[in-house]
Amino acid sequence: YNHRLQRTEKMKIISDLAASVAHEVRNPLQVTRGFLQLLSGRTDEKSKPYFELAVNELDRASDIITDFLTFAKPELDKITLLDLSKEMKKIEAMMLPLAAMHGGILIFNTQENLYFYGNSSKLKQALINIIKNSIEAIGIDGIIEVKSTSEQGEIILKIIDNGEGMDEEEISKLGVPFFSTKTKGTGLGLMVTFRIIEVMKGTIKVLSTKGKGTEFIIRFPLVVDDKILPDDLNV
Ligand code: ADP
Ligand code: MG
Repeated sequence: YNHRLQRTEKMKIISDLAASVAHEVRNPLQVTRGFLQLLSGRTDEKSKPYFELAVNELDRASDIITDFLTFAKPELDKITLLDLSKEMKKIEAMMLPLAAMHGGILIFNTQENLYFYGNSSKLKQALINIIKNSIEAIGIDGIIEVKSTSEQGEIILKIIDNGEGMDEEEISKLGVPFFSTKTKGTGLGLMVTFRIIEVMKGTIKVLSTKGKGTEFIIRFPLVVDDKILPDDLNV
């Protein structure tokens, strides 16, 4: 089942709202986070887990705001030449603890020397949203594989899980603002992911089978060696 990107009126409303609110809300969250961490260092052992929970919840709020903000202004960011394997290593380091917490196995299979144009932090955000969904979809014996290869001038990035999967109706709603089947979900993650990939001139395809698992396939135009400008390598 092939998923196509779609824009709706709702998206326009969200982007206007996000641009005006996101910056103002994120700053006090960061300040509060800093003070909580400071206090957690001065408190007794019994109270420490509560501080940890509070910091985690603040991070969750921050992530949601970042997703809103990205939707509002995805094109303003600097586009540079990215080394995919380097980007993948950063993402792997961030996602391994989360996967372990959910009892799942996360495997990265990265091909070296794949270059493409994009924005590092946006790419991270886009892939983390997909991997987080996979982590939330798996159960016992859950396995998630993230792998990159190249084929005919394209980078091919796959995120494959053996989680709960989706039916055709669910697949068709992916990326629609507020579509979520989770009690604590926002339904913003994939909307932002699709938008980021689109801005980076990539494409995304979703294959999924209920009860079996899900596969996200992302393609970016590959930059071949002789086209790499020396200037780009310094960024
Ligand atoms: P949220 O995670 O907040 O629900 P997302 O936009 O990230 O919002 O995802 C929307 C919905 O798509 C999820 O609620 C879930 O139903 C479905 N989904 C996304 N990825 C997967 C996956 N890997 N396996 C099963 N369902 C998924
Ligand atoms: Mg999500």
